[in-house]
Amino acid sequence: MTTVKEAEEIILAQARDYGSEQVPFEQALGRVLAEDLKADRDLPPCNRVTMDGIAIKYAAVESGIKTFVVKGIVAAGDVPIEIDALNECVEIMTGAALPDTTDTIVRYEDVDIKNGVATLCTNNIRKGQNIHYKGKDKEQGETVAVANEYINPAHISMAASVGKSTLLVKKLPRVVIISTGDELVNVDETPTPYQVRRSNSYAVKAVLQQYHLIADTLHIPDEPTITQIQIKECLATYDVIILSGGISMGKFDYVPQVLEGLHVEKLFHKVQQRPGKPFWFGKHENGVLVLAFPGNPVSTFMCLHRYFLPWLEQSLGVSSKPAFAELNEDVTFTAALQYFVQVKLKICKHGHLHATPIEGHGSGDFANLLDTDAFMELPLEQSIFKKGEVYRIWPFKQIM
Ligand code: AMP
Ligand code: MG
Repeated sequence: MTTVKEAEEIILAQARDYGSEQVPFEQALGRVLAEDLKADRDLPPCNRVTMDGIAIKYAAVESGIKTFVVKGIVAAGDVPIEIDALNECVEIMTGAALPDTTDTIVRYEDVDIKNGVATLCTNNIRKGQNIHYKGKDKEQGETVAVANEYINPAHISMAASVGKSTLLVKKLPRVVIISTGDELVNVDETPTPYQVRRSNSYAVKAVLQQYHLIADTLHIPDEPTITQIQIKECLATYDVIILSGGISMGKFDYVPQVLEGLHVEKLFHKVQQRPGKPFWFGKHENGVLVLAFPGNPVSTFMCLHRYFLPWLEQSLGVSSKPAFAELNEDVTFTAALQYFVQVKLKICKHGHLHATPIEGHGSGDFANLLDTDAFMELPLEQSIFKKGEVYRIWPFKQIM
């Protein structure tokens, strides 16, 4: 049977670059930047005043001058007013450009202004204080953000500042999520006691939405001819097909045979893991990738996070740091499978991530996903995992 490590390698070897596209910068949040962002001018673009107050020449302080004639008022955005003598100053506001004839800002709290004359109320003045110098943060042409990162609000702010109204971002693959199973009914239907409402395609769609990937969904019955016709159509339309259900040993599990009949080359079937053992992965001759997950909701959810998301990130060129947590309780698992135990995460007072196992009732217990935050990947070689040991986790929620 294929090990988790092998399955991961086989899938990551199929990572693709789907190209890039321009999008309005306000719609780029959460996408992956496909270009370096550069400063179109110095940041800040002038010597920028950082306090409301008066601008003076420091030489005046050195020569003992304490009172200054106010030559004018400079607001942010104004052309600076220059002084002609050491005993002159200008009132100046935060964000305004420093006049070249001045070099120091004394904040309003430290001056008394009456009848057009400013008197210093402090001896504590440093040359150059309260000025953010031109080009100090970034120089014109310098890179301010590098490609291959998720665009976050700071990128949006920077794009606005450097006048990039569109951003080049990585294109996302076209994905269809197909659920299978005659026992599944629509969300707005009332199931008999023998039926269930389908939830997997919504779960998968929601996870992908976090990557701004809007997938199509489709449901097909457990019937080989319809399965064949529908999957054939999808192979011509999408880059990736994610299936749930129909790949196990059941009498009505037609998916693997249909896929192989459609020239989707099987790259593996069955992974040495729990949940998700029947996982099937293959590649069509036209390059379309097919990830067929077992239908049990926890299996689909785990396989999506453990295999599809790393593939997606590799395809988009981003490298997320692996996350680890410390076990809070012992876990025993004796089957010869790599166990992905569901855990609740908590940050301890020392800032470390602690994981409390909440095993749930098997891969059909999707309610347990609401009580947990991540899958913890426990090594295959061991069967006893002790409190205090640290293992890799695959979070499916934001850790707070
Ligand atoms: P299968 O892998 O098709 O044998 O399905 C395994 C179990 O998962 C069955 O109990 C199914 O009812 C359930 N299941 C399959 N697909 C879905 C789905 N889309 N939503 C919810 N449960 C599902
Ligand atoms: Mg089924």
